[in-house]
Amino acid sequence: MHTVDFEFRKEIIKEDFSLSYCYQCGTCSSVCPVALATDGVYNPRKIIEESLLGLKDLLLTEQNPNVWLCSTCQMCVEKCPQNVFLTEIFENLKNKIVQTGESYPDTFKTQAKAVLENGLALSPTPPIIRRREELKLPKVETADSKEIKKLLNATNFVEKTHLNGGKK
Ligand code: SF4
Ligand code: SF4
Repeated sequence: MHTVDFEFRKEIIKEDFSLSYCYQCGTCSSVCPVALATDGVYNPRKIIEESLLGLKDLLLTEQNPNVWLCSTCQMCVEKCPQNVFLTEIFENLKNKIVQTGESYPDTFKTQAKAVLENGLALSPTPPIIRRREELKLPKVETADSKEIKKLLNATNFVEKTHLNGGKK
């Protein structure tokens, strides 16, 4: 049994008012490639419904459906007849999951660590660098990683993203 959290509902609607325009037509789920690939296990309409109902536990703790599966392809946003900014709403939910210390996929932690260490989420591997050189593409530039590390340490990035632990 899941309880409605009115404060949570108010908070997510305030963060993105387009959420309140949804009339549950299901177009988003019908065009979503991840919904198709997972036989509907991933279901953006349902995430929006749970958000409208303020079902905080389902969204943040159980993550059912799992908002991290969204590939941010924007198909749903393009087709939604009510101009609901689904991907913005999902981004807000992901931020809340991390802020509240709930578990989130290791792949995002790996990317966060890469940003911390190299200043890039996906560092170019030697084959990528070689291929870029062959194609005469410019060198991939990034800001000084020491500066990035300094900034991230000053803003408690490791603690905020729970890179040292958090719920499992
Ligand atoms: S397409 Fe838009 S209006 Fe329809 S269910 Fe999805 S978010 Fe709601
Ligand atoms: S942005 Fe996410 S929810 Fe929307 S269609 Fe793409 S994968 Fe599905």
